[in-house]
Amino acid sequence: MNRLFLVSRQFSTSVRRTMIIKPVPVLEDNYSYLLIDEDTKNVALVDPVEPAKVLDAAKKQGVTPQCILTTHHHWDHAGGNKDALKSLGSVDCYGGDERIEGLTKQLKDNDTVKVGNLQVKALATAGHTLGHVCYFVEDTKTGQKAVFTGDCLFSSGCGRLFEGSAKQMLAALDKIADLPEETEVYFGHEYTRKNLQFAEHVEPKNEDIKKKVAWAKANQCTTPSTVKIEKLTNPFMRVRTQELKQSVLSDNESGLSDSEILLKVRKMKDSF
Ligand SMILES: [Zn+2]
Repeated sequence: MNRLFLVSRQFSTSVRRTMIIKPVPVLEDNYSYLLIDEDTKNVALVDPVEPAKVLDAAKKQGVTPQCILTTHHHWDHAGGNKDALKSLGSVDCYGGDERIEGLTKQLKDNDTVKVGNLQVKALATAGHTLGHVCYFVEDTKTGQKAVFTGDCLFSSGCGRLFEGSAKQMLAALDKIADLPEETEVYFGHEYTRKNLQFAEHVEPKNEDIKKKVAWAKANQCTTPSTVKIEKLTNPFMRVRTQELKQSVLSDNESGLSDSEILLKVRKMKDSF
């Protein structure tokens, strides 16, 4: 199994995993996911933009999805909801933004949804869009943890600031950084290799980034990461570190706030 170099292995041998997450590559570089509680066979679809592919993946697993979790209203995440609902019948379609196609239940920050034994908590994470939510999932039987981060947090990157401010994005990334370090991070796009080029550019001496670059070269699909790995290798989660500050700030910028540093790094990435 080609797990990322620093992934905690605490669940791989001693505890039987009952939360199963299957990435389904869709469109050019998006990921939809199947979130499965193996014990109860309850299943959620995360951002099923190409329903045929995602439902086919569910069929192969021998499971029938009972709800849809949408991270945000952009078409490449929510654009398959109506067709998925046509196939699934009257199931709930969750999200944090009334603009989401097919939405049946709007979630607020910290609202929870059950998927069998899995407890799913919505984390309001404005920045990329104003109604963006991430989904933090805990398996109440095994303690296994995962977070679906949509276009808020990518592996070694973050979403563009289309609607929110840098301050909102920093608060969103801080929420994810505050989750337990072993939490697996399932992101919305396979941008990892490009993101790492930029991460290496801003922190050329960071050994964890170098290791991740080598790992990502050998692994086409890089999801999931973990909260721990992102704290070590994601420039947007490292705006408070001396290493990143020394690299990106000029002498007259030492008074910049954390969110101003994030904005500066975001602009550097936009034109990288
Ligand atoms: Zn988006």
